[in-house]
Amino acid sequence: MYLKKLYINGFKSFAEKTEVIVENGITAIVGPNGSGKSNISDAIKWVLGEQSAKSLRGGKMDDVIFAGTEKRMPLGYAEVNLIFDNESGQIPLEYKEVSIKRKLYKTGESEYYINKQQCRLKDIKELFMDTGIGREGYSFIGQGRVEDILSPNSETRRQVFEEASGIVKYKTRKEESERK
Ligand code: ATP
Ligand code: MG
Repeated sequence: MYLKKLYINGFKSFAEKTEVIVENGITAIVGPNGSGKSNISDAIKWVLGEQSAKSLRGGKMDDVIFAGTEKRMPLGYAEVNLIFDNESGQIPLEYKEVSIKRKLYKTGESEYYINKQQCRLKDIKELFMDTGIGREGYSFIGQGRVEDILSPNSETRRQVFEEASGIVKYKTRKEESERK
């Protein structure tokens, strides 16, 4: 399973619907300072449920919506759609391709979709749990994450291994049932 493509529309500097093809293998995104490279990784994190505006390098959540420039009007919503190849069936859905979308309106209203069906953020999180792809998954190695993997603190390292071994789902369910 891998991220094949993303569509970004109205998210940060992407005022126009933009298709980013990543496909299998290595994709490097290059460009001058301020051209939107980090905005692409922010977009991926955002769809996977990032709720902290600070982690997305903003002050408040609606800062992710295109704010306009001298030549362009601000937009009313931001939308990002991730397309995963699921030939391997690693995402537990009967589809060869899985699309995950998040949309946020200026009014604060937020929507999530799995294959065009509206869903809760919880459904997206569960779908990707133990695949390594979540917002906190080991597939996202941001600044500071390398230290977690090499951390002398065994608890921090353990979290990385638990995700990789696929038991986070069961731990989360156990914690949830204990809370009830
Ligand atoms: P660097 O090489 O310096 O890391 P980068 O390519 O990673 O640069 P980004 O941080 O992705 O650049 O993009 C920053 C640009 O995105 C800035 O020009 C900023 O004005 C623009 N930007 C961020 N949020 C918004 C928004 N809500 N509306 C419009 N533009 C935005
Ligand atoms: Mg950057």
